[in-house]
This record gives sequence, structure tokens and C-alpha cells, in this order.
Amino acid sequence: MKIYNTMSRSLEEFIPLEPQKISMYVCGPTVYNLIHIGNARPMIVFDTFRRYMAHRGYKVDYVSNFTDVDDKIIKKAEEEGVSSSEISERYIDECKKDMEALNILPATVHPKATEEIEGMIGLISDLIEKGYAYVTEDGTVYFRTRKDKEYGKLSHKNIDDLEAGHGRELKVTGSEGKEDYLDFVLWKPKKEGEPYWPSPWCDGRPGWHTECCVMAKKYLGETIDIHAGGEDLIFPHHENEIAQAEAANGVPFARYWMHNGFLNVNNVKMAKSLNNFFTVREITEKYDPQVLRFFMLTAQYRNPLNFSEELMQSAAAGLERIRTCGKNLDFLIKNAATESMSDGEGELLKEAGKYIDRFNEVMDDDLNTADAISVIFELVKFINSNTDEESSRAFLEGLKDELSLLFGILGLKLASEEEELLPEEIEKLIEKRQEARKNKDFAKADEIRAILLSKGIVLEDTRQGVKWKRAD
Ligand code: AMP
Ligand code: ZN
Repeated sequence: MKIYNTMSRSLEEFIPLEPQKISMYVCGPTVYNLIHIGNARPMIVFDTFRRYMAHRGYKVDYVSNFTDVDDKIIKKAEEEGVSSSEISERYIDECKKDMEALNILPATVHPKATEEIEGMIGLISDLIEKGYAYVTEDGTVYFRTRKDKEYGKLSHKNIDDLEAGHGRELKVTGSEGKEDYLDFVLWKPKKEGEPYWPSPWCDGRPGWHTECCVMAKKYLGETIDIHAGGEDLIFPHHENEIAQAEAANGVPFARYWMHNGFLNVNNVKMAKSLNNFFTVREITEKYDPQVLRFFMLTAQYRNPLNFSEELMQSAAAGLERIRTCGKNLDFLIKNAATESMSDGEGELLKEAGKYIDRFNEVMDDDLNTADAISVIFELVKFINSNTDEESSRAFLEGLKDELSLLFGILGLKLASEEEELLPEEIEKLIEKRQEARKNKDFAKADEIRAILLSKGIVLEDTRQGVKWKRAD
């Protein structure tokens, strides 16, 4: 697999630290509002990366944080007259709902900044001890940026250019005792009404860049395989993370840096501050959430992607074309006259296997989901032109399995939300069927079994009772 590494600015062969294991950290959202669909882009693309690597046999340890202490959260809490934690907890819950709707797997760990303060104080103390950080009179702790001789290596910025670009302005806005305008805050004193924690320097709270270093090390180790996020995080966030982590640990922080391009509106980055955003919630109320996921994957993750109604409509149509193929297969499977495959079908099924190879090939090329979707369309064409009422069940099932497999790796489902039954609904139908059987109403019992089957639920009568599973 080749991954574009922002650090080297080139495609590199991906070799994990440990064979068949991946440690991956993805910077998560600041939780002060419903997430917008721009925030959903890294969640969807890196979830797809994770699913794909799992399909290739890797065990993926995936950590993604919630930034739950931040100026924006505090401001929102003030506006509503509630505590910061009430705001952050509310929007963590809402974010998790959106993630579930978009079929984004929960991370192995979702740490929260406010629960990792002790670790952050530990890191900052360590940096002070090593001479990489200093405390000013009011208890603010700064990182001594110039002491890091490699500062700028990720963003490919020259430290002196930074001075030329921002110099004076930043110098005057810096607080008392700051040695250099390039120094960034690790710990800041509390202000009236803000959440704070005690520390050796003052009651206060950590700066944003510190949390990810601490969480990545705690949950994944000093050197991780992949660190990811949107490209706006390259500078200063990831640059500052590297500076702290490598100063403290003395080893490389991450081996591969992956950054997704922006989701744009009229070629401008979607952002809360620009008020050009749509929340995941409003879009998924209008469209099946799977349409949004499908849309996000129509571009390779590093390319910019423009959001428009037109492109969403076309994503909806594309998704439907693939689902229709799945439904047709279901229908043919249900009504198949022959069970086992003919030799000719065996050959065809083998031929269909080339779409899996092709899919892997394009995904291995820096996760080219755009091409992966094209491969799925080719498979759909192949299925449509090689199946009919004469096809055997085994052949049809083989094709259905392949289609479900490739679609599933992208986190996409062949059944739409409305068509998919909830477990409670399934249990209820099973209960009704049991009752019908008890009353010897076998026609009714069979009818219920057929209804469930049409929704992809297969029943199995066992000694322990009726068990069910989803067919794909
Ligand atoms: P934030 O809550 O602003 O820290 O953002 C959370 C994640 O969403 C980060 O990885 C950002 O880079 C990413 N992000 C924010 N806006 C966009 C956008 N318009 N397109 C793509 N990614 C974005
Ligand atoms: Zn981060």
C-alpha cells in the first residue's frame, strides 16, 4: 500500500512498525455544536482507511479524541448559561449519533481532553525540565519553539519565514514574559468563570496542541504509525504536536502523516466561521446518510471536494444503481430454480474476482476511493449482464457476497435505512411467527419468514429457539 506522507511530500510504501498491526491517531472535533459535513470528511475517509486495512488483515488500533475544553465551548456555555461540560457532553452525544448514522465505526478509544489533564501536566513538566518550555510570571507555560531545530519540518515552513510573515504583529499581542512570538502556549491561567484545573504553575487549562501528544502516547505508544486529520491541521496544530512530542520522547512521533483535503462550497472551505456550512444532521434529514458517505468517497481523500445539491443527487443516483443490483440479486436468489453452479458460472465467478483485485489495487494507491467506486460500477455492469432467472443460487450468492464485500469495505450498505429492520422490529416479527406456529397457522408463519427474508434477515430454528442474522 502506498500512502502520501505529508512529511516527505511523497507517496511512500506503507510499512507498519509491527507486522499486520496499525496504530493510528485521528484528530477529532471540538465539541461546541453539531458537526458540519466538513468535519465529517476526515471521519469518513479515515474510517474507510481503517475498514480497508482491516480487510487486508491488519489489526487497527484507532484513537480519535474529543476536544472538550476550548474557548468556543466556553463561549457557548456562557451564551446558554450552562456549564462547559454540559455543552461538550451534549455535543459529544450528538456527534456520536451522526457518526453512527454515517456508519463510522467507534474508535478503539475516544479520549476526552478533560480526562487527560494529569498526563498533560506530566508532559509539560517534562518539557520544562528539559528546557523546552518555560513559565512566565502569571503562570502561563510556553513552548520554546526555536529550541526545536526541526520546527517546520511537517509544514515545510522555514522558521525565519514565519518571522518575516507574522513578526511584529504577533510580538505585540503576545503576553508578558513571552520570550519569542513563535512560542506557543502549553498551559494558560484561568479567567473568571472558566473551567480550570490546579497545576504546579497556576490554576488553568492546557493549550490545544498538548492533548493529542499525550493521548497518542498513552493509548498507542511514543511512535505511532499514522497520524491523520484535515489539512488545516498541518500548521500549526500538527507541527506543534511534533515539536512537543519529539522534544519530550526523543523519538519520531508518527511515521506517516495523512491529511484530507477540504470539503468546499463554491471552492471555499466549509467552516463554521464562514457561515457556509451544513450540519451532518440537516443533510441526513434530507438524504439517506449513506448518500453523504457515498458522496464523500467519490473523491480521493486528498483532493478538494465541492459540495452541491447536484453532486448529492448524482451520489444518490449512483448509490441507488448499486443497491438495485443488490436487490435484483436478492430476487433472483429467492426464486432460483437450480442450486449448484454450472462450470460456465464457475468461470464467470472467477472472472468476477478480478474486480476484487482491481479494487485492492486502487485502494492501495493512497486510498483512491473514487476509482474504487468505479470498480464497483464495473462489477454491477458485469453482474447485470451475466445473471438472469436461469442462474443458479450458488452463482448468484457468490456475486452478491462480492458486491457486499466491496461495498462494505467502503462502509456502505446495500439496504437503505428505511429498508433495514431494527433488532426490536425483527424480534417482534419473530414473536408473531412463533405465535402463528403455536396456533398452527403455518401460512402466516411462512409469510412472516418471507417478509424477514425480503429484508435480508435469515431465520434459523435451533434448539435454543429462533436465531436470526443479516444475510449480507
Ligand atoms: P475542528 O473541530 O475544527 O478541529 O475540526 C475537526 C476536523 O475536521 C479536523 O480534522 C479538521 O481538519 C476537519 N475539517 C474541518 N473543516 C473541514 C472541511 N471544510 N473539509 C475537510 N475537513 C475539515
Ligand atoms: Zn490533534
